[in-house]
Amino acid sequence: MNIITEPQGNFGANCYMVSDTDAAVLIDVFKVTDKVRKFIKDNAGKQMLILATHRHFDHVTGIYDARVLSGAAVGIGALDACGLESSEDSLSARFALNQTEFTPDYLLNDGDVINIGSLSIRVIHTPGHTVGSVCFAVANVIFSGDTLFRQSVGRTDLPTGDREAQKESLKKLFALTEDYTVYPGHAEPTTLSYERSYNPYI
Ligand SMILES: [Zn+2]
Repeated sequence: MNIITEPQGNFGANCYMVSDTDAAVLIDVFKVTDKVRKFIKDNAGKQMLILATHRHFDHVTGIYDARVLSGAAVGIGALDACGLESSEDSLSARFALNQTEFTPDYLLNDGDVINIGSLSIRVIHTPGHTVGSVCFAVANVIFSGDTLFRQSVGRTDLPTGDREAQKESLKKLFALTEDYTVYPGHAEPTTLSYERSYNPYI
């Protein structure tokens, strides 16, 4: 499995481009950049999918364009689907950004397993930053969105944010027995074991 990371936009939201021999997955897209365009082109002919970790504009504004360009289906946590359907709910309207609203193809729930080519992606519902935030576990990697960062966690003061729910979600992640490399929604990767020991919010 190969992972390309591109921090996008003023908020530096990480767009992840994940590929294997027969599958390609985009996780969070603020913008279809040259890199995203190249990824879609390079992986043409593979099974392709677009996923969003949560509803916020810095993670979803480019998904519509990526979907049109690739023809791939789009999945998002069921309770955050509104972020694709409404620029009010993604907060892009608040930042005067253009977002084409559309209905996602898949609504994801806790424990769902998405099999795409040789990749098996497990959905972990982790409410707190938003009510529909999800993490995606693939092999020994977790894409954590704005739930868990290196030595930090996502803010809970935006609509549907919930500090108590976030605590429970972090407990759920830290209860995973295997170690994982964590690719967060912003900034650099980390590992679950490192965060268990050094994350000041735990
Ligand atoms: Zn966010």
